[in-house]
Amino acid sequence: MKAEQFPCPCCGCLTFPGSPADALAYICPVCMWENDLFIAFNDEPSDENHGLTLNQGRANYRTLGVCDPRLAPYARKPFPKELP
Ligand SMILES: [Zn+2]
Repeated sequence: MKAEQFPCPCCGCLTFPGSPADALAYICPVCMWENDLFIAFNDEPSDENHGLTLNQGRANYRTLGVCDPRLAPYARKPFPKELP
């Protein structure tokens, strides 16, 4: 049985076990973005991500494969089934 996975708001990979709206502080294993339910805009600094905005995290993921370069040692590549 395949569990439904939801897209990460940062990298878009299907890594969330539930809706991001319910996944308080869930950390995406691919891009290391920590789900932040308290930001209203993509340009708002996220306290859960050391002040990074979602747009900055997305840009970092596109170039570095991780939302914050300091977290690169903990990130992993997406599994084929997680690709958006
Ligand atoms: Zn992600």
